[in-house]
Amino acid sequence: MDLADLKRRRAENVPGRFFVDSTCIDCDTCRWMAPETYTAAGGMSAVHQQPEDPLAERRALHALLACPTGSIGTVPTHPELRAARDDFPLPVHGPVFHCGFHASSSFGAASYFLQREDGNVLIDSPRYVTSLAERIEALGGIRWLYLTHRDDVADHARWAERFGCERVLHRDDVTRATEEVEVQPEGPEPLRLADGLTVVPVPGHTKGHTVLHVDDTYLFTGDHLAWSDRRDDLVAFRGACWYDWEEQVRSMERLLDCRFSWVLPGHGRRHGDDPDRMRASLERCIAWMRTVA
Ligand code: SF4
Repeated sequence: MDLADLKRRRAENVPGRFFVDSTCIDCDTCRWMAPETYTAAGGMSAVHQQPEDPLAERRALHALLACPTGSIGTVPTHPELRAARDDFPLPVHGPVFHCGFHASSSFGAASYFLQREDGNVLIDSPRYVTSLAERIEALGGIRWLYLTHRDDVADHARWAERFGCERVLHRDDVTRATEEVEVQPEGPEPLRLADGLTVVPVPGHTKGHTVLHVDDTYLFTGDHLAWSDRRDDLVAFRGACWYDWEEQVRSMERLLDCRFSWVLPGHGRRHGDDPDRMRASLERCIAWMRTVA
């Protein structure tokens, strides 16, 4: 990956080893991965505090590696960079791991790895990185590469070639770049991939957007639904609805049928809580969506 350019070091960074350069696309990834180090400043990210202990240092390195544009650097090169690379995928909760290595082609969307007895799932595509592929191989490989929507497909073909997995993408979001996807659900009906593993169509952000509902616990939501730390609630992105907002509201209402305690989006923050509180938050999100034109 490209490394950050010291000549482009942003003035908003505090002095010290870690810095963000002016190629930052403000995708937010570093800020949720290592908020003790990175913050928003002037429409981009910057280092507001240099890491002060080994855990903060490791998290800052993880964010550096996840950055989709190679906009984070250290001077001098950090001696633990290679070891930090081998930490991915990072455990999140139970069988869920964060893949890191966000892709610029998906504007830095997060991708996740889900470990299951009946076959593991890669959720949206990270950059193809050999060390990540080797770690995923050690965790049992990939049976399905599930793609929430057309924007976050990144290196899907390389992952599919490496693992021989079945890719899943709703037909309404298939483009020339994804026409070889093996499983293309159609229409509004959910598709059951396995027991407790269901693809739910949620048109709105794009026509063929879907979410993945897992074991009444996890909801992988792409760009349909996310957690907002600022509002302390679930949110949808009106300003990033490319297909039909009214349709997205109806899709959100259908998610009331799904029980879940975790929301894991491509953009925005992930969040876990009691399922009843998550449902109440979803109801507030829908009520808010109805007020927005
Ligand atoms: S991860 Fe990279 S591109 Fe995204 S906000 Fe941080 S520095 Fe900017």
